[in-house]
Amino acid sequence: MCSSTRPSIWTTKELRAQGYTKRAIADLVASGRLRRARRGVYAWQDACDDAFTAAEHGGSLGCTDAAEHLGLWLLPPPEDESAEPTPRPGPHVWMRADRHQYAHSDCASVPHWDAGDCRDAFGLPSVTQVLEQVYRCRGAEQFFVALESARRQNLILGKALAVLRSALDAVGRDLVDFSRADADSGLESLVRLRLRRHGISVRTQVDVYGTGRVDLVLDGWLLIEADGKANHDGESMRHKDLVRDANAASWGLTTLRFDYAMIIYDWDLVERAILGMLATRA
Ligand SMILES: [Zn+2]
Ligand SMILES: [Zn+2]
Repeated sequence: MCSSTRPSIWTTKELRAQGYTKRAIADLVASGRLRRARRGVYAWQDACDDAFTAAEHGGSLGCTDAAEHLGLWLLPPPEDESAEPTPRPGPHVWMRADRHQYAHSDCASVPHWDAGDCRDAFGLPSVTQVLEQVYRCRGAEQFFVALESARRQNLILGKALAVLRSALDAVGRDLVDFSRADADSGLESLVRLRLRRHGISVRTQVDVYGTGRVDLVLDGWLLIEADGKANHDGESMRHKDLVRDANAASWGLTTLRFDYAMIIYDWDLVERAILGMLATRA
């Protein structure tokens, strides 16, 4: 996975405009520094395999694959219940409105046919366009998580956000309005979105006296900690968490702690735990 937003894929015409002669291009190909994706389209050595596949197919990375390159947080694909390993789906490919699809080996590409501006023939779509693609292709939750992570990183600001909003349907516009620029993680975004339908009052990143910063506080007394993969492993972190929870309890606050796998793969249980706990003081 490369994380460059600058395309490493160029047409012959673009390479010539950058000063590479025909001869220089041929030499670069011969030395392995340039890879030929198809006729008239070349990838620098550092282009990732997905970007290369997209170029073979006739476009550039789009949708969730472009979002990943832009550094946006994404939900993992649903866990496969069957034991059979499923082949990884090909990249989501932005074909603009008018590209041709090309046959190539092992094609599993998911094409996206939407017009948009991009200076480079094989550049990534804009953040606004990527988010719109994610909304249409991958649904509300994936979109919301990617959107809040884009806002958090200042990758989409006022005017672009308004452009995005106006391109969406009523559900999408509502998600834009509900989104914030200070979500601390994709997990937090997801939990906030999922709790919304229950009409629970949710505050995020709250400084709780004696405890410190808490991810989410529900109805003023139920603290929800969404533990990411890395931060809470090991004995000393566990001790710190226990001290936090005890401090909170001494102030009459209850802590529920969920990890990444529970929130992503066992939401029913997480939701029942939260609603059950809230009901005790209803
Ligand atoms: Zn897609
Ligand atoms: Zn393909």
